[in-house]
Amino acid sequence: MSDSQATQYQSHGDVAVITMNNPPVNGLGYDLRVGISNDLRRAMADPAVKAVVITGAGKAFSGGADIREFGSPKALGEPNLLSLILQLEQATKPVVAAIHSVVMGGGLELALGCHFRVAQKGTQVALPEVKLGLLPGAGGTQRLPRVVPLELATNMIVSGTAIKAEKFAGTRLFDQIVDDQVLEAAIAFARKAVAENMGLPKVRDLKVKYPNAQGFLQFARNTAAAVARNFPAPVKCVEAVRAAVDLPFDQGMAVERAAFIELMATPESRALRHAFFAERAASKIPDVPESTPIRPIKSAAVIGAGTMGGGITMNFINVGIPVTLLEIKQEALDKGIAIIRKNYENSAKKGKMSAEEVEKRMALITPTTTYDSIGQADIVVEAVFEDMPVKEQVFKQLDKVMKPGAILATNTSTLDVDKIAAFTARPQEVIGTHFFSPANVMRLLEIVRGAKTAKDVLATTMALSKTIKKTGVVSGVCDGFIGNRMIEQYSRQAGFMLDEGASPAQVDRAIERFGFAMGPFRMADLAGNDVGWYIRKRRALERPNMIYSRTADKLCEMGRFGQKTGKGWYQYQPGKRDAIPDPQVDAMITAYREEIGLKPRKISDDEIVQRLVFALVNEGAKILEEGIALRASDIDLIYLSGYGFPLHRGGPMLYADQFGLFNMVGRMKDFAANPHGDPSFWTPAELILKRVAEGSSLT
Ligand code: NAD
Repeated sequence: MSDSQATQYQSHGDVAVITMNNPPVNGLGYDLRVGISNDLRRAMADPAVKAVVITGAGKAFSGGADIREFGSPKALGEPNLLSLILQLEQATKPVVAAIHSVVMGGGLELALGCHFRVAQKGTQVALPEVKLGLLPGAGGTQRLPRVVPLELATNMIVSGTAIKAEKFAGTRLFDQIVDDQVLEAAIAFARKAVAENMGLPKVRDLKVKYPNAQGFLQFARNTAAAVARNFPAPVKCVEAVRAAVDLPFDQGMAVERAAFIELMATPESRALRHAFFAERAASKIPDVPESTPIRPIKSAAVIGAGTMGGGITMNFINVGIPVTLLEIKQEALDKGIAIIRKNYENSAKKGKMSAEEVEKRMALITPTTTYDSIGQADIVVEAVFEDMPVKEQVFKQLDKVMKPGAILATNTSTLDVDKIAAFTARPQEVIGTHFFSPANVMRLLEIVRGAKTAKDVLATTMALSKTIKKTGVVSGVCDGFIGNRMIEQYSRQAGFMLDEGASPAQVDRAIERFGFAMGPFRMADLAGNDVGWYIRKRRALERPNMIYSRTADKLCEMGRFGQKTGKGWYQYQPGKRDAIPDPQVDAMITAYREEIGLKPRKISDDEIVQRLVFALVNEGAKILEEGIALRASDIDLIYLSGYGFPLHRGGPMLYADQFGLFNMVGRMKDFAANPHGDPSFWTPAELILKRVAEGSSLT
């Protein structure tokens, strides 16, 4: 018998069982809340029912709020979670939660509103709200410390980490922990509660007991403040827990409520929620339905065992996909394989994997110097030199040897994927997989959809990105794709600011204070200044009118390629990575300013940050209006996962929205009035002007 679609109500003799049924994780959306509330009322009204068990169908007890409802009026519709928990708590017959698999966030808060809790071993228990810049807002901060030791409760709320149910043995969180058959156990427990007159215990009536609670809370607060620097939520979590210690329950609830509302309005929480939704949105491609068939990928080939080819190979073998690794020269092949082995051996030394595991992974690589042995691979990823004639040669070979239906992927970072596809007679099978260096570490994978790429090739590659634990984001074909096309404008601004009076260290410091992991000059020294030099030389032919600061070229002419040569924008001591400003670089910049007739001026840190970030935003908006990116959040995801953009700011596009597009355009006008630089640079993208006129936003 079913009372609503979201719940099932069944009588097991004198025990009513309410089963939450809102796949995939029984998120506590409006319909489910209404269902539970009605079912509870029904159980209370039925004289034959002596006790109630509440459980979840499928893969979870409950994973918490229904994120599909976030931000919609339904999320606040009554009964809201607070009201529902109150109803549970005030039930006149014992209510037992039968908990299995996952009990998180609002799901755990709901369970804490029940009179008793029976859990199955292995259940993941967490209050993960802090990961979205929030705190548990339905009593979690008040009830959890009343049932588990204060230190454990605080750590769970501040970190959001999941803990297995069995670790709570001996606490009041669970009245019983069972190996399996949790529903049967909970029904038996409910009967026992009635038979033995165990009453209707409420967590709210317990006191938090902990030796030197104040001392611990002070310590926890200091630690949270130090660790979470850019995020206000962890400190608020500790403060709410303190209220559970210091204040009567209802006053503590008011503290929790106020903190929740305050956090909800912070830019940091908005950024985290944006990043969370960006990650989920990225896998949706409007014209490629989720039902698109996926080709099985059971084996791979990689062409080129250099920096990228090696890392890409590791991605596959890490998840058990065997790789045939092809190089033209035996020495290059041996060298590439030796580096892969060394990487694994280093992990083994750090205790991250066993020596056996190293051998197991290495055994998944088949080295080769001929194309004969790769034809049967389901996907081949090309990572040879960034040179069109070399790519042409490789793709013509691949077209000859690869079996029908194999996916032909290129890791090119700047070349035209459509041109590469045209070297084959099967452009529909060709796609770009733009990994980031080091490819075995960096999460981002730009998936470049060519004009002719087949939908199932795209869907398969997106699915593969998940298999190899990457964040896949789709990009159309353009020079630099999404990430590097934007970073080029950022680098140009960085160069212009040197011309106008800033030093590399000042630019880096300003943007690092904003939250970037590394400023543009430290970054360039790490990546190698020769990489950009090579690209600029090509650009000089393709787009001769594009203005650059020539300082970066002069640096390369001095042989200063960065960390690998011990000198770049900074100087480096052997074996160290500390960037030390170098008077020789200052002298080069000064001479260049004189050469172009520029008198240096003092540039504020605000101006530095705004020019760098708004350069990203303006190019991002163009990328969006051209349809190269599917949505603004994809751009933000690329910047958060591949370019060290500060997470607490949510990515360049969200930052622009939070700064205010009208005000950003105003600043762009100020920068355009600057007599130095490229006057067209600061012309706002049409899309930005449109959104300003509409009073809407980019994200
Ligand atoms: P690399 O020079 O380290 O490696 C290239 C390898 O390809 C060399 O080992 C070379 O021997 C081999 N090779 C050359 N021609 C070949 C051929 N015809 N057949 C087989 N092997 C051949 O270069 P890399 O940094 O690994 O870059 C590879 C590709 O990845 C380029 O397209 C590059 O633009 C792209 N990429 C590089 C980075 C990066 O940060 N290095 C990032 C993203 C993408």
